[in-house]
Amino acid sequence: MTRIAIVGVAGRMGRTLVNAVLQADGATLAGGIVEPGSTLVGADIGELAGVGSLGVSAVDSLEAIVDDFDVLIDFTAPQVTLSNLAFCAERGKRMVIGTTGLSDEELAELDGYGEKLPFVFAPNMSVGVNLTLKLLETAAKALGDEGYDIEVIEAHHRHKVDAPSGTALKMGEVVAESLGRTLKEHGVFERVGQCGPRTDKEIGFATVRAGDIIGEHTVMFATEGERIEITHKASSRMTFAKGAVRAARWVADQDKGRYAMQDVLGLTDRV
Ligand code: NAD
Repeated sequence: MTRIAIVGVAGRMGRTLVNAVLQADGATLAGGIVEPGSTLVGADIGELAGVGSLGVSAVDSLEAIVDDFDVLIDFTAPQVTLSNLAFCAERGKRMVIGTTGLSDEELAELDGYGEKLPFVFAPNMSVGVNLTLKLLETAAKALGDEGYDIEVIEAHHRHKVDAPSGTALKMGEVVAESLGRTLKEHGVFERVGQCGPRTDKEIGFATVRAGDIIGEHTVMFATEGERIEITHKASSRMTFAKGAVRAARWVADQDKGRYAMQDVLGLTDRV
């Protein structure tokens, strides 16, 4: 039985994760952590998640429940995640990280923890998105050098704080890598005013923020006469939460290292 704690348990993903852990075989809910000083400290995390009392109170430090959990699931914010990695590395814990919006420096710091603890890091934990990445690789290899313009369009709810989404960036990276390009050189993240016509090799990103959209991503391959669009739409956060719980159960048996959802899903070809 994998004992799972959830940090950011009062957040949108945190509350969904409570439900996902309760529904999963082979996993138990060992604790929930809210922001230090939050008025929710002491609240029952089942009540927070809308599933009724579970007899587990929210705490505001990992130390308070350190003996109770094996794997920490973290969907919070970059600096919070990095400090949780330091704690878990020191205390022999494992992690599943869904936080997005890390800077290059923060990603490099996260990478370094691969030598210190086992953890899964994925900008999107849904099985469907990870399959979509494989489809994109195939499409890019077939079309990318044949005069097809590539654009990535994503839409999310009005509360999302980073843009483009981690998933959109991952999709762009997979396409770019398949074509020997890089997002640093070929990614175009802003078009405004007299920006001129698009260049052949650029990979453009467009972001929509509106209402309660859970997460939609389309990669467009367009040329004169036709357009192919590969789209993934999430209609519930449960898809991410279920993937995260699956990752938590999987990482409980792994050696130190940084892993991707591809590893969890047993896709030998990593993208
Ligand atoms: P949210 O703002 O609803 O939740 C984040 C929670 O973290 C908040 O409740 C906040 O109080 C809490 N928090 C902040 N600092 C904390 C601390 N020091 N200790 C404990 N808790 C703390 O946001 P959300 O929509 O749940 O998304 C969270 C992150 O997950 C974002 O980066 C988002 O992009 C990402 N996300 C990833 C996936 C995926 O599949 N990988 C899916 C959805 C969202």
